[in-house]
Amino acid sequence: AAKGVGNNMFRCYDSYMDENAHRRFVMENGMRRALENGDFLLYYQPKVNLVTGEITAMEALVRWDHAELGIIAPSDFIPLAEETGLIIPLGEWVLRQACAQNKWWQDQGHFRLRVAVNLSGYQLQQAEFLEVVRRALADTGLDPQYLELEITETVVMQNPDFTVRLLDQLCEMGIHISIDDFGTGYSSLSHLKRFSVNTLKMDKSFVKGVAENGPDAAIATAIISMGRSLNLSVIAEGVETEGQLEFLKKTECDEVQGFLFSKPIPPEEVLRFMKGRGAHDKGRAE
Ligand code: C2E
Ligand code: MG
Ligand code: MG
Ligand code: MG
Repeated sequence: AAKGVGNNMFRCYDSYMDENAHRRFVMENGMRRALENGDFLLYYQPKVNLVTGEITAMEALVRWDHAELGIIAPSDFIPLAEETGLIIPLGEWVLRQACAQNKWWQDQGHFRLRVAVNLSGYQLQQAEFLEVVRRALADTGLDPQYLELEITETVVMQNPDFTVRLLDQLCEMGIHISIDDFGTGYSSLSHLKRFSVNTLKMDKSFVKGVAENGPDAAIATAIISMGRSLNLSVIAEGVETEGQLEFLKKTECDEVQGFLFSKPIPPEEVLRFMKGRGAHDKGRAE
């Protein structure tokens, strides 16, 4: 597009390179530098058992701590990370950081819970993916039973034969597997029963309307009962209100996660959250 020379060239270039392409260029380079400089962070959001009221796991959710823009949410950079391939080193960093943080919490005597890591489909497709997971566990010393991997339903169903084998191997390692955003993809039940998974994580779009006794309530009820028939635990994400919680208890959903209990918080706040959980918090899930 740049066909002029000298000063003219720049003007020409600018007008042809649209804002979007420029933004992507800046973002991609920014992400590369952020990886090198350690500007990514993990926030953690607890998962709560609805029967005992206990915290069962902490989900790691990545953030970009940008010098000028502040904290950037994953929806603003994960898609570009996937397009550019940066999701591979970023995803490995997330996995290792989450394992290391969890091992630290355990070694310091704070708590012994699973840490849940979100995976991109691109990570699963890597030939050395299992090796990456094994290395993260071995290098950090985290026992595999304290690692959970969240894989979205869409990714799981993309190539079912491939996923069946991969999930079998992860399961054999003793890792907990959850199908994230469940209900938004196109699960074929015949495939679902072949997967070695432990948990269905019901998408928050259904949780939103459960208290209104409409279609969301019907879908949520169906997912919870299907989970029970398949011997899978069911967790509801995005629980924000007491009304939603009431419904989920009544329909015997196993676990919940959402702003009602805690937003995703940095590691220092996780310690405060866990210490501050008294009889009151425990009591309300019973
Ligand atoms: P997700 O794994 O389904 O995570 C749930 C999202 O819902 C999180 O957004 C969380 O902050 C938000 N959330 C939690 N409770 C509530 C609630 O009560 N109400 C509402 N409205 N929202 C709630 P977040 O942290 O912005 O992450 C968005 C998505 O980005 C995640 O969806 C996940 O797909 C992806 N993501 C986050 N971290 C990673 C990562 O390390 N690797 C990969 N590949 N993807 C990630
Ligand atoms: Mg998730
Ligand atoms: Mg989810
Ligand atoms: Mg989601």
